[in-house]
Amino acid sequence: MNTEQLDIYDITIVGGGPAGMYAAFYSGMRAMRTKLIDAKEELGGFMRTYPEKLVWDVGGVGPIRCEKLIDILELQAKTFDPTLVLGQEIAHLERRDDQIFVLTAKTGERHYTRTLLLCAGRGMTQVQKLDVEGANRYELTNLHYTITDLSRFKDKRVLISGGGDSAVDWANEIVKLAKQVIVVHRRNEFTAHELPVAQMKASAEVMTPYRISRLHGAGDQIKSVVLEHSDTGAIEQIEVDEVIVSHGFDRDFGGLLKWGLDKEDYGVSVDPRMRTSMPGIFGAGDFITYGSKVRLIAGAFNDAVLAVNSAKLYLDPAASDMAGVSSHNDRFFEKNKAIIHQ
Ligand SMILES: Cc1cc2nc3c(=O)[nH]c(=O)nc-3n(C[C@H](O)[C@H](O)[C@H](O)COP(=O)(O)OP(=O)(O)OC[C@H]3O[C@@H](n4cnc5c(N)ncnc54)[C@H](O)[C@@H]3O)c2cc1C
Repeated sequence: MNTEQLDIYDITIVGGGPAGMYAAFYSGMRAMRTKLIDAKEELGGFMRTYPEKLVWDVGGVGPIRCEKLIDILELQAKTFDPTLVLGQEIAHLERRDDQIFVLTAKTGERHYTRTLLLCAGRGMTQVQKLDVEGANRYELTNLHYTITDLSRFKDKRVLISGGGDSAVDWANEIVKLAKQVIVVHRRNEFTAHELPVAQMKASAEVMTPYRISRLHGAGDQIKSVVLEHSDTGAIEQIEVDEVIVSHGFDRDFGGLLKWGLDKEDYGVSVDPRMRTSMPGIFGAGDFITYGSKVRLIAGAFNDAVLAVNSAKLYLDPAASDMAGVSSHNDRFFEKNKAIIHQ
């Protein structure tokens, strides 16, 4: 195969969550020709599952609606015009004799790159749907798996099913404006953090251990929910206006974990410079693990900087350890002029 005819990138980033988006920006600062690929049709990664939530713990921007934070990150990711490839799940990896990596998407497209940065986070997450006959009939009306607009629950009777952080957080938010909030969980213990659970128990009605066994509707609207006691099988029927199901996510990495990279329970192992066990492949964000790993957006940013710097040094051992700070960096010279003239 003739290398010259292929479109080979310096760095290809798989995963367009906060780690991948920030890496795309930073690799531009390092003047690397960059491609960013995500299986989904939009950037944002796992943050797309909580768009309406307020995020407080990202340096310099909180409190901010998560959806807005995605917009800002996306804008920043595009600063140096990386090639964006959306809707392609990367499935296979090969390394040619000339050390170029060839990534193949499930759809058959190929991508050629000198280095690879894996930012696959929590994978291509899919919500776990309610396993009740006919539930999908109500998905466009009053059965919700994500929430984009809290105001729709104003003065409504809302039933929330789930025991994790999301279910409990939604209950605590919605109880402020709804007429009634009932939280149903199949176990007596909630897995969410202690303080929000205590808040929820003080303000919402909690029914445990119960699970939703049937939905009764009229047309495309759920009108009531049948709950079954997990131990006794006793049945309760409750009239509702809205149902929120928060049963977690299925995680799928589309084959990335079968490439032979060293890994531990919580992700692919990297060294302090974000290098995986395979030379030329780096990792950042929730996909990786190391002793002091921080599974937060802020942690993803730091990993991304370290990983891109390592990729740069891998390509050019004489390069500086890190990009020059942005306030004194030539890469921004023209951009700064344009902003100042505005
Ligand atoms: C309920 C909840 C609330 C949270 N709230 C906060 C908060 O307030 N503040 C905070 O800092 N953090 C929060 N977090 C954590 C934060 O969301 C994660 O740390 C962050 O999303 C990790 O980013 P990432 O880029 O590593 O991965 P992700 O955001 O998981 O993105 C990974 C991307 O990779 C793509 N991908 C995966 N496999 C493939 C493949 N084979 N081919 C192509 N694309 C692929 C996926 O489609 C996805 O877009 C929260 C987490 C949860 C669960």
